[in-house]
Amino acid sequence: MVTDPAPRTLPEPVGLNAEFYAHCAAGELRFQRCDTCSAWRHPPRYRCPACGSETWSWELSASRGRVYTWTVTHRPLDPFFADELPYAVVVVETEEGVRVVGNLRGIEVGDLALDLPVEILFSPQTDRVALLEFGPVT
Ligand SMILES: [Zn+2]
Repeated sequence: MVTDPAPRTLPEPVGLNAEFYAHCAAGELRFQRCDTCSAWRHPPRYRCPACGSETWSWELSASRGRVYTWTVTHRPLDPFFADELPYAVVVVETEEGVRVVGNLRGIEVGDLALDLPVEILFSPQTDRVALLEFGPVT
């Protein structure tokens, strides 16, 4: 008997998070940047944590960073990932200084290292959501 694969659990973003994911779905990695003190920030929020300003812009990221930390999953808590074990969930510090979370593409779990340079890629899921993935710098 053949069964359909389990659907992937996706974020259902609202507010500023929906704006972030919409940029990703459009193929652009953008983070908020304070119009007053130029501090980058992520995840999205309405006030700058550095100066308290309420004015900001969605600025384009260089889409590059370095591995900050990761965890490797060996048990399929979500059935969608059962065929991908073991897989890593990785935190990358971008060149802008903010950190993002995603999965690997084109890098083996055993090749992960602190400070490993990576390129930030998109995995389109819907017309409103693309997830972030990290691949080797090309
Ligand atoms: Zn600020």
